[in-house]
Amino acid sequence: MKWLLIVFLVVLNRLPAASGDTDAVSRPVGEPSPIVIAHRGACGYLPEHTLESAAFAHALGADYIEQDCVLTKDGVPVVLHDVTLDDVTDVATRFPDRCRDNGHWYVCDFLLDELRQLRVHERWNLKGIRRFPQNLGTFHICTLREQIELIRGLDHSRGTKTGLYIELKRPQWHRRQGLDVTAAVLNVLTEYGLTDADDPVFLQCFETDELKRLRTELKCRLPLIQLLRSVPDRTAIQEYARVVDGLGLEIGCVLKDVHGGDDPQPELTDVVTVAHQHALEVHVWTVRIDYLPKSVPSAERLLDWVVRQAGADGVFTDHPDIVVRWRESASVAGRPGPFHLLNQKKQPPQSGPSGNTIP
Ligand code: CA
Repeated sequence: MKWLLIVFLVVLNRLPAASGDTDAVSRPVGEPSPIVIAHRGACGYLPEHTLESAAFAHALGADYIEQDCVLTKDGVPVVLHDVTLDDVTDVATRFPDRCRDNGHWYVCDFLLDELRQLRVHERWNLKGIRRFPQNLGTFHICTLREQIELIRGLDHSRGTKTGLYIELKRPQWHRRQGLDVTAAVLNVLTEYGLTDADDPVFLQCFETDELKRLRTELKCRLPLIQLLRSVPDRTAIQEYARVVDGLGLEIGCVLKDVHGGDDPQPELTDVVTVAHQHALEVHVWTVRIDYLPKSVPSAERLLDWVVRQAGADGVFTDHPDIVVRWRESASVAGRPGPFHLLNQKKQPPQSGPSGNTIP
């Protein structure tokens, strides 16, 4: 009865989509949990957001591969983390005169054909951690279309089904440049038939108003993730649950003082519990084996805290193989996540939770 009550409350609480459909149900029951989200591809090993990084993430067994999207001058979604090109390309030497007065080179000031002339390298300022050498390799900027086709091709040849986890970068800023990053990304997804609530795509954004716009004006049915850097209170979580399907939280939102203290066992916040009460998934960023929070002895310990104790449903990681291996060894695969509350509405009742070994 408790489950039925929660389902009822959640459905009542959710904003009707513009289509009038209240079943904004997301990923299928039984998908491994936590889902492993390759953060900017396998960027712990190859330059972020390149096709090589995405291909390697696929090979390492990621469930979802992240694409941060920004627009070119001709309105094409390309996969880059920043709206500027400064930190991951050789733009300063190839186009020395194309920086703005503030000394930065912006993606939206360049046509796609111009961006294709740039070389991509590992990000500057790595604070001493070991990543792909900046002076080796030939990497390029890729479009969202190219990433989708790469992943589809690999899914076909490997017999897998890998999801897209797309971030809409700074929609308000894009609008001030005369560009609509959200509409451009949706157009590409529509071309590939990715429009439904159960398609393997998450759309993530920091801007709450843009997520509301996706659900209403743009009639988007894909699962949405509200990104947050700080802990939301109960009221805020309730409000988010009216629009989105999950929260994408910085690790410090789940583990109190994890970045600052020397506490060998950080205290958990109640954010995951409250989010689950509203049938919101929680995906936590970012697990990096070479850049752990100060008080954390290993990636495995961090995953124990974030997934087994706090109950996160997904993990963003620069090193997908580490999380996949931990998931196998920790026997946490098969936990259905909070969406199963909604999925039960339209599927036969499950015989019981499968493989959930979390106390
Ligand atoms: Ca991102």
